[in-house]
Amino acid sequence: MATDVAPAQRALGVHRVLEPPGVLPQAARRLDPDPAIGPDEVRLAVQRLNLDAASFRQLRESCGGNGAAVRAAVLGIVAARGKMQNPVTGSGGMLIGTVDAVGPESPLGLRVGQRVATLVSLTLTPLALTDGLAGWDGRTEQVPAEGTAILFARSIAAVLPDDLPDPVSLAVLDVCGAPAATARVVRRTAARSVAVLGAAGKSGCLSLAAARAAGATDLTGLVRDEPEAAALTAAGLADRVVVADATDPLAVAAAVGAPAEVTVVCVDAPGAEHGAVLATAAGGTVVFFSMATSFPAAALGAEGMAADVTMLIGNGYTPGHAALALDLYRSTPGVRALIDPRVAA
Ligand code: NAP
Repeated sequence: MATDVAPAQRALGVHRVLEPPGVLPQAARRLDPDPAIGPDEVRLAVQRLNLDAASFRQLRESCGGNGAAVRAAVLGIVAARGKMQNPVTGSGGMLIGTVDAVGPESPLGLRVGQRVATLVSLTLTPLALTDGLAGWDGRTEQVPAEGTAILFARSIAAVLPDDLPDPVSLAVLDVCGAPAATARVVRRTAARSVAVLGAAGKSGCLSLAAARAAGATDLTGLVRDEPEAAALTAAGLADRVVVADATDPLAVAAAVGAPAEVTVVCVDAPGAEHGAVLATAAGGTVVFFSMATSFPAAALGAEGMAADVTMLIGNGYTPGHAALALDLYRSTPGVRALIDPRVAA
């Protein structure tokens, strides 16, 4: 681990970057996951990882659904990179664990023994696994795990709530940027109509609930198939539920009908950019929360359609995002009805 790094850079974790030199941890090929902490760091005893949906889908599909192969792939990535960053999707996820060491100069305010969720991505979190993921069958996004993870001075973590099961908190906090981004855009643009692609998923249903709470009055939820449509309709989160393949732009446009002022992309598969642009009214905004989003496809696609839409990358961080998402989960039966079965599965 580099020792001659200035405090402001250490706060970003630069001292943990092994290669290439000069980049921040998120862009690094390899981090140093040494469990020995510096004075401004915090070490967590890892309990459970949450692989982000786009990464898990890619791993599952590339391994032909073979759980043992998925487990071997995750172990291989963490061993090679010192962090869990899927080299194909570039995405990670987050984790929960117990604080087991706090450096004397850490500004995070954490105490040994607290149970926390990291609110920074696994793509920049130094991670060492010690159990060979023996308790995981490779078939779920959530991964029981043992090992250590490191937080930097500028990392963020949330103390886990006592009133919710850990797997629920983990699932909700992993996508808590989506409802926060949706609420912010709806408020700032005073939008009334919102379309959510992938609306029956975790980030999708939370985004619908956030849009409603922020004042939107015309909510369209686009889902993949009839069973998802039935579940979303029963959840009562959308005014209109439509079925289309989000990767088929003409089908999306036809299904959504009158374009929405705000479109939120919450699918976990690539190829939703053009449908999202077509589903959005002139002067409107698309929030690309999906990690499977392609910048060239979005930018060049919008240009090619002469579509005057603002396109936002769904930043995983917005102040207050964790509390907002957990409160939406607690207060919205429809959100619980959609998220709980996914967590249980
Ligand atoms: P999720 O719970 O799996 O929901 C995704 C939904 O999209 C599912 O209902 C899925 O249907 C649906 N879907 C997939 N392909 C579709 C298609 N072609 N047409 C219509 N619907 C389709 O995923 P999530 O956890 O909400 O995550 C959603 C996305 O957010 C992922 O890409 C994830 O990586 C990303 N993410 C971003 C951040 C950030 O900071 N920006 C943080 C965390 C996660 P099925 O269930 O039938 O497949």
